[in-house]
This record gives sequence, structure tokens and C-alpha cells, in this order.
Amino acid sequence: MHFKEDVVVNKFSHIYIEEEMKDNAMTKKITSFFPHASKIIIHDYRDVFNRRKQSHAHQKSSQNLILAKKKNDFLYPSSPVCQSFDYENFYYTTTMMNCIYDCEYCFLKGMYPSGNLVIFVNIEDFLHEIENRLKEHSIYLCVSYDTDMLALEPITQYAKILSEFTEKHPSLCIEIRTKGTYSQDWKNVCVSERVILAFTLSPEYVISHYEHGTPPLTKRIAMIQEAMKMGYPVRLCFDPIIAFQGYEKEYLEMVRLVKESIDLKRVKDISIGSFRISRNYLKDMRKQYPDSSVLQYPYVCDHGFYHLRDDIQKKVEHTVLDALDEVKDKIYQWENE
Ligand code: SF4
Repeated sequence: MHFKEDVVVNKFSHIYIEEEMKDNAMTKKITSFFPHASKIIIHDYRDVFNRRKQSHAHQKSSQNLILAKKKNDFLYPSSPVCQSFDYENFYYTTTMMNCIYDCEYCFLKGMYPSGNLVIFVNIEDFLHEIENRLKEHSIYLCVSYDTDMLALEPITQYAKILSEFTEKHPSLCIEIRTKGTYSQDWKNVCVSERVILAFTLSPEYVISHYEHGTPPLTKRIAMIQEAMKMGYPVRLCFDPIIAFQGYEKEYLEMVRLVKESIDLKRVKDISIGSFRISRNYLKDMRKQYPDSSVLQYPYVCDHGFYHLRDDIQKKVEHTVLDALDEVKDKIYQWENE
């Protein structure tokens, strides 16, 4: 698949643009990628995004784009289901809401009332707020938390902007998490020891059944090889591990392929965690996707979130953990406490 031809040009039939942002340079740049889309001027993105009774599932299948201005809440403290990798002052930021990929288990389906994609075009205000917070303390910041930022790099260059900003601020470290991208634009991201490229890896079975639209495992591995060659600190994320019939064989085959292609001793670290999700998100998602085996699985609920039954969780996580035993000192495992 060629990103520019197949993903971008035909991606959005409608673009909603906040009146205040209609002459913004980023707005103009982004809309230039979609010559065929109808442009609709709106007052506030929330009038469209937060409308009641929207179908996330329907909107994901014919996603529209909303260009807006973020006015507050530029930095959020991390969530308990995230791993901190021993960093202090762990935040995430949402320059975009929702994703062009469509992972069946994605928490965004439970978090947002709409499946449409929002891009906040005032990136300079995010940088300004990060700079202000850096005056108080160092920051570890996940910048691709509510989206897959690199998948949209051809139209925003946000990863490039944020990485160049990070390079200039020694007490800032960012993580850009991705399932890979079909474009080559990620290579413009600034190489720095404080710009971590984190790749989510899943077996082909999981990619084809649950991670709709995402690059195949071989493509992700090739991108990791290239990123390591270019000098990026690379994080491998075997997270979320999904339980399904025959998972063991699929995950072992994936680890075999990864070990065959990547020198694990050279990766920065590795994260392992099985699927978990906030109780309220899963409740909504189950209503919207009654046929999804990954969402309808009988998870157990405690401390406000659903996860695999403890014994099953241990077993599925150990399938991957044990297969990576030779690099166990690099592994961070999500703990259910
Ligand atoms: S790539 Fe990440 S953000 Fe995008 S749909 Fe999948 S899980 Fe959600």
C-alpha cells in the first residue's frame, strides 16, 4: 500500500474546521492533502465530536477529520494502566484524538464519543506549555498516546516538530509509540537519545484479526531494523498480549521472527503486558461491538479495570517473557496490583 495514494487522498470525505483555525498555516497544510474532501466550518470541535448518540463503529469505517484548537489540558499525568519505565514525572499529551488505524481492542473506542479524527493544529501552544512545565521539573512525555502519530506524519510532521523541540530541551524525553507506518516520513524525526521510538509488535494472527489497517509484522520489523541503524533508541512493546485459542504458537512464532531479525541486546528496553482496560470503556465498547471476540472475552474486573484472570494472565505473559529470557534485564512488565 502506498500511503499518499491509498490512505491520505481518499481517506476523509469531510473535514470540519473550527472557524478560529480556518486561516491557520497548519490547517492549510493539512487540508491541502485532501483536495476532494468537503470542508465544513464549525464553531467548536466539540459540537461535532461530542454529539450524542454517535456510532463509533460506523464513524471508524468512514472516518472524517476535524481540525481544531486545543485550549487547555495540554499535559495529562499518566494513567495507571501505563508503564512508566522508571521515569519520573510521566505525562502524556494529545495533539490528536483517535487514529487512522482501527484496532478492535483500542481503548479510544470507549474513551471518545466519536470515531472521527481530531487534529489540534495549534502545536506551538503544546510546545509552549511543555516549556512552562519544564521550568518546574524534567518530563517524560508520551506524545503518541491517543493516536498513532507516525501514521499521520506525512500530513502533520508533528513527530518531527516534537523531536526537534526535545533535542533542544535536555530535561525532556519523549516516547513516540507506533504500530509502524506505510510512509517514509518517520525518517525525518530527529535522532536523539531522548526520542524513543516504541514499536508495538503482535503476531500476524492478531494483526489480521484485531489490528485492522495496521502494517504487517514483517513491515514493523523492517522499520525497527532501519530505526536502529539510524541510531534511535528503540523500545519493543509486546503489549497488549491478547488471549485467544492457539495464542501460544502465534506468540512464539512472532518472538522467533523478532529474534531472528533484531539484535535484542541493542534495543533500549522491552515492555510486556496483557490486555487491560478501564471498566467504563469496556462496558461501552462491548455494547458497540457485540461480535468482537477480543472485547467479549470474559475478563475479570478489579480496581476499576478489566484484565485477564490472574492465572491466565501469568501464563500468556510468561509465553513471551520466557521466550525473551536472555534479555530479561531489559524487560518491563506491567503489574496488576
Ligand atoms: S494503533 Fe494504537 S491508537 Fe491506533 S487504533 Fe491501534 S491501539 Fe488505537
